[in-house]
Amino acid sequence: MTVARVIVDVPSRQTDRTFDYLIPESFKDLVDIGSRVAVPFGGRTLQGIVTDFAVDAEVEAARMKPIADVLDEIPSLTSELIKLGEWMSKRWLCPLTISLQAMLPAALKGKVEHRASMKQVQTVFVISEQQLIEAIQQVPPRARKQHEVLEYLLTAPEPIAVQRLAEATATTAGTIRTLADKGWVEIRTITEDRDPYANREFVPSVPMKLTVAQADALAPIERAIANHQHEVFLLHGVTGSGKTEVYLQAIQRCLTDGREAIVLVPEIALTPQMVERFKSRFGAKVAVLHSRLSQGERFDEWRKIRDGRAQVAVGARSAIFAPFSQLGLIVIDEEHETSYKQEESPKYHARDVAIERARLHQAAVVLGSATPALDTYEAARSNRRAEGLGHITYIALPHRVANRPLPEVHLVDMREELKLGNRTMFSRALTDALNLRLERKEQTVLLLNRRGYATFVMCRSCGYTATCPHCEISLTYHRGSQNLRCHYCGYAEAEPKTCPSCESPHIRFFGTGTQKVEEALAATFPGIRVIRMDVDTTTEKGSHEKWLTEFRERRADVLLGTQMVAKGLDFPYVTLVGVLAADSALRLPDFRSSERTFQLLTQVAGRAGRHELPGEVIVQTYDPEHVAITSVQGHNYEAFVRQELKLRSILGYPPYGRLIAVTLSHESVPMLLSIGEQLATRVRELAKFHGIGTDFSRDDRVLEVLGPVASPIARLKDRYRFQCMVKYRGGVDASSLVSQALQQIADAVKRSGLVVSVDVDPQMML
Ligand code: ADP
Ligand code: ZN
Ligand code: ZN
Repeated sequence: MTVARVIVDVPSRQTDRTFDYLIPESFKDLVDIGSRVAVPFGGRTLQGIVTDFAVDAEVEAARMKPIADVLDEIPSLTSELIKLGEWMSKRWLCPLTISLQAMLPAALKGKVEHRASMKQVQTVFVISEQQLIEAIQQVPPRARKQHEVLEYLLTAPEPIAVQRLAEATATTAGTIRTLADKGWVEIRTITEDRDPYANREFVPSVPMKLTVAQADALAPIERAIANHQHEVFLLHGVTGSGKTEVYLQAIQRCLTDGREAIVLVPEIALTPQMVERFKSRFGAKVAVLHSRLSQGERFDEWRKIRDGRAQVAVGARSAIFAPFSQLGLIVIDEEHETSYKQEESPKYHARDVAIERARLHQAAVVLGSATPALDTYEAARSNRRAEGLGHITYIALPHRVANRPLPEVHLVDMREELKLGNRTMFSRALTDALNLRLERKEQTVLLLNRRGYATFVMCRSCGYTATCPHCEISLTYHRGSQNLRCHYCGYAEAEPKTCPSCESPHIRFFGTGTQKVEEALAATFPGIRVIRMDVDTTTEKGSHEKWLTEFRERRADVLLGTQMVAKGLDFPYVTLVGVLAADSALRLPDFRSSERTFQLLTQVAGRAGRHELPGEVIVQTYDPEHVAITSVQGHNYEAFVRQELKLRSILGYPPYGRLIAVTLSHESVPMLLSIGEQLATRVRELAKFHGIGTDFSRDDRVLEVLGPVASPIARLKDRYRFQCMVKYRGGVDASSLVSQALQQIADAVKRSGLVVSVDVDPQMML
């Protein structure tokens, strides 16, 4: 083995293959499958990953370049992860290096000089107690500080960092170094983990006695784990039904068998409270991976997994790539969350990756949710092998633990409020309910469903709205800086005093932002204490945690926020949940907008009355007959799903068909139309050639190409955008057809400078 096959980190279709490099003698013992290496490539030195060794490459060896450096002591990836990467690249049509790089922690990405930095700490080691006592006798008494250090060391725990020892004895590092120079103590450099939870105590927890329903839910999962059987479960349990305890005990089972587990939680639900539940049960075995950690902390947590010091990984989407080698279980909590789909390449869905990864390990997968994604649910209920998901076993937890009732949900028709002359953003019902909570010193969560409801500037005289000159997007008003900004390209302009179109002075910002609600609360409820949580108040590291702690300690009456306040929070004194503008996202041009609205409302309703105090939910809406809203009132997931699936089936949308979105962008519309047409035609021709039908109402194996049409966001950063939507079902390998079609028009695309982006099973249609 003298030649390594390397995937070089040049993400393009042309270089999407391995290149061979000689392994110099000195690196022979260091290079393994999954090692990151530095290699010469086109005059530069780039990072690559060894995916294989070439056995019969001697003929070519003479012309081959050698590996320049090995960047890992222990390979960063395993051969299983490389296999998984190959699968991802096929599944989501992207170069292999993009899939592999997505599996590495940020500290390891990029160019060679980005060699990962570990935290190096100068540390004092006591040689022996004998040596210390001897030192105390021999060091002259006037070296008072040296004496203090030596005496401290007699009783202090060691090894101890030089810095910490100096602080504890109120001396300088110099004093300590003098002692080391004389040979009384030893100073060595060691690598220390940055532990993001170092200053927190976790009270150990023991497994709870399961309810009958929980025990029934756990049994088949445990069986699959014990039998090393690849099985996927949907754990459909209402909010507060005790899903987490089922996860915990399933994980315990895994650990007992000497295997490992991954738990995925949506980024914004990954609160200290959530982490605590796992840390309390499994202690130091838990590594936590999420983006609010610093790059260094994240890297150290990742190393704990790679080096076998942690057996449970709890994290957001990318924790699915935790470098375990003995996986027994993958849990995905709130499996319906859109954040499990990555919106940039590789545009993978963590649920699908989990299922494939578990297959490679013969491991179990538990998908948990109160409102499962419709495709997961359909796959579990229909008892067939769903395309892209396979077979899923359905488990239900239909009631809350201890028979706590689900909160009562009231719908308020805001049109009626207006008729009665209430022009504020709070209905009479919500105002009364809030006042009652203030009186009783209970707490309220207020959700502003703000998606698609930005604060835009409009002229009341002529209807002019301020839009970005580079993107087809309304500008958003920012109160702090008093300017208008484009959230896509960053363009900013001053707030206009008069309308640029008709010069009317009646131009002002519209829509309800969280800031506006905060002001309205203060005006309507004098003295009310509000914590506002949105993207603006949570950018700083640790701010998210800080707000939640403050709210937990009841230093505020209201937690007001966007999506962020809907997930995972569990506060005993929250007895009221209010939803402002429940239907604001219902009319977005996305076939999943009803599903999303229903899920969000159900999630946030679940924040109320989780403990002894019963809860109440008030949903303000302009569309009280919409099934996504009415079903929330009865906590009736099935009713919603029945209705929604009917619509999907008529239109051939998921789960009754699958989609691939191809988005093309260019400065010139005619160019886009011409190449877009070529692409659509090629895909249609290929489908026809393979005998695939085109009629969704009749054919089983069927494929349809919609477009090219202007994308919902028709222009971005001065480039126009068109999309072709490929809709198909019946085991058609549409990915490979699209891939072939793109290959056929590759020259035209390259010449024109057109940018193509492919999204397989897109989640966001905007
Ligand atoms: P979910 O994850 O389904 O929303 P949780 O796991 O948060 O539900 O459980 C809701 C509440 O019920 C929590 O306070 C939890 O401690 C409690 N709980 C869960 N299982 C049990 C049990 N077997 N016995 C007593 N309390 C339980
Ligand atoms: Zn105007
Ligand atoms: Zn813009």
